[in-house]
Amino acid sequence: MVYITNHNADLIIENIDISKLNLEGSLFKNRNLFIFSKREVKRLLAYKSFMANSKDLVGVYKKIEMPTDKYEYLTYYNKPAYHSKADCSLLNSAFITYKIPEKIRQKGEESCKIFRLWFKKNRELLQEDEKTFYALLKSKFGVDELEKQSLENSGIQVFTDLTLEQIEQQLDKLINEANDYFFNSNHKPVLSLFLRRLYLANPTSIIPKEEIEKAGIKMTDVEIKKILAEFRDKYKNPITRLLKYYYRTKYNPELKYNENILEQLGFVPCKECCSKRQL
Ligand SMILES: [Zn+2]
Repeated sequence: MVYITNHNADLIIENIDISKLNLEGSLFKNRNLFIFSKREVKRLLAYKSFMANSKDLVGVYKKIEMPTDKYEYLTYYNKPAYHSKADCSLLNSAFITYKIPEKIRQKGEESCKIFRLWFKKNRELLQEDEKTFYALLKSKFGVDELEKQSLENSGIQVFTDLTLEQIEQQLDKLINEANDYFFNSNHKPVLSLFLRRLYLANPTSIIPKEEIEKAGIKMTDVEIKKILAEFRDKYKNPITRLLKYYYRTKYNPELKYNENILEQLGFVPCKECCSKRQL
């Protein structure tokens, strides 16, 4: 069993072809979570199944595609990695790299590749003798300084201080609050119409005029978007996050994953912790 970041676990589920999925069951106890669309329910059930390491998802997994290299940073990984150690620095701490200076980027990909290679060879020099490093950098690339960049890592643990029981209580409370808000709100007509389409709150989305008129709602698009965004931020997104956390804690408390499945999905062993592994 090996470890991956929460972000990569999300990517695996996002990549699944939902139409091929035939999962059943409830999301949380026997609560009626009508705020989720069928699609969203399927995706959450897929997440639950993945955490439980069940066989339900075999055949629907898709290879993880990493974003293309934009030559923004010195480091770029074209494949996601799994880790053999839970305390691997690449898994937990914010990852420090450098930006490729604009001057070099402007010259094109080839220059960036040469710069990356040069940096790799001179990495130790930067630590041992910074002055000489920057002199070399200046003479070779005409660059005076390098900008450090800390890339956030989603880690393997997020809400570590909660027990399963506490998560359940929070979920129950939040679901009750969402229901109260929905049934007692003046905005019920708008919410009933678009509850499962909260993406309509996005600035670029278009509110379907016909549906609004048919439901007799007299509000501007801006007002409607505000209501939807509020419901999304206060209830739907927090419930989604908490549900995922609940599945992780309940089914995969050590956050370990099956290495064979991960390799089929294009994951490679982490260079930092897996090469030192004792087999
Ligand atoms: Zn590692």
